[in-house]
Amino acid sequence: MSNIIVFVEHHNGTARAASAQCIGAALATSHDVIAVVSGKGAEEAAATLGKHGATKAVALTGAAQHSPDALARDIAKLVKDNGAKGFMAAATATGKDIAPRVAALLDSTLFSDVTGITAQGDAFTVVRPWLAGKAIATLTSQAPVFCATTRLNVFAASGAEKKCEVIKAAASTDGKAIVTSVAEKAEEKLDVKEAPVVVSGGRGLKGPENFKLIEDLAAAFGAAATGASRAVVDAGWRPHAEQVGQTGKTVSPQLYIAVGISGAIQHLAGMRTSKVIVAINKDAEAPIFKVADYGIVGDAFEVVPALTAAVKAAKKH
Ligand SMILES: Cc1cc2nc3c(=O)[nH]c(=O)nc-3n(C[C@H](O)[C@H](O)[C@H](O)COP(=O)(O)OP(=O)(O)OC[C@H]3O[C@@H](n4cnc5c(N)ncnc54)[C@H](O)[C@@H]3O)c2cc1C
Repeated sequence: MSNIIVFVEHHNGTARAASAQCIGAALATSHDVIAVVSGKGAEEAAATLGKHGATKAVALTGAAQHSPDALARDIAKLVKDNGAKGFMAAATATGKDIAPRVAALLDSTLFSDVTGITAQGDAFTVVRPWLAGKAIATLTSQAPVFCATTRLNVFAASGAEKKCEVIKAAASTDGKAIVTSVAEKAEEKLDVKEAPVVVSGGRGLKGPENFKLIEDLAAAFGAAATGASRAVVDAGWRPHAEQVGQTGKTVSPQLYIAVGISGAIQHLAGMRTSKVIVAINKDAEAPIFKVADYGIVGDAFEVVPALTAAVKAAKKH
């Protein structure tokens, strides 16, 4: 069976969910997956990848500092050495940095942020949103090596464990761009891009102090992140890291709850591929209701506390 190389990101040896989903997307095309991991903890991460369905995992070790161009060269070489038919990475910040470089080195083209992939043998077809999600394009790859990044939370990680051969290889150390330090945030808050549930608030909340309502609802769900519209980020009510939309983050959680958000096209661009969308807005004509699966026309200050109480009660049972 031909194979696809998947770049796997990890945090201190634990593969990121987005990368496990990317492996799942690659396996669904009936190709074997060769995973590539790098950085501190690469060997530990490589040893766990059989449970995500990889049949081979290459741990690139020996580089003291991360270099995107050196890593891209190493990955492109692995693609060639293994005769891989494809290269894939999750559409994270790092994936978006590495993948175009790999595609260029392979004289290929990159399909970014795809939401669907199928293959007839080694002929790949992808689906991806265009024009801020207003159109869905289907494209076929004519390149000798198919290269793509996968949108987060769209594809399922594989539950089928495989016997995985783990190989250690020397990472290139002659990068042109070198990451000299990374300051980790003290707070280990769930990121909107990775959370299965996102509760977002907009200008309808009237002021930053009222985002406690959003935080309480997210906390009631447990594994949930808080998001925001650009209007409230621009107003300084919420950090930019929470902004969902065209100039913020693109999210595809299992459940997206938009509270007091009108549903401007730029906001929809970042969340319309969510599996289930719930909108809470006092204006029945708000455009957010056009993309919502469930809508509650009402005052957020009454609806959200009631919903939080209902979620807590449901969790007790
Ligand atoms: C180039 C560009 C890029 C942009 N990028 C983004 C982006 O990435 N993300 C983004 O979000 N926006 C983006 N925008 C801004 C976007 O156009 C909207 O201005 C913004 O999304 C509006 O935010 P909002 O829905 O919170 O506010 P509003 O549009 O003011 O909507 C507030 C909503 O709250 C409702 N409401 C009021 N009171 C209550 C209440 N008590 N209970 C319930 N509902 C209530 C109102 O009915 C209204 O629908 C961008 C704009 C441009 C031009």
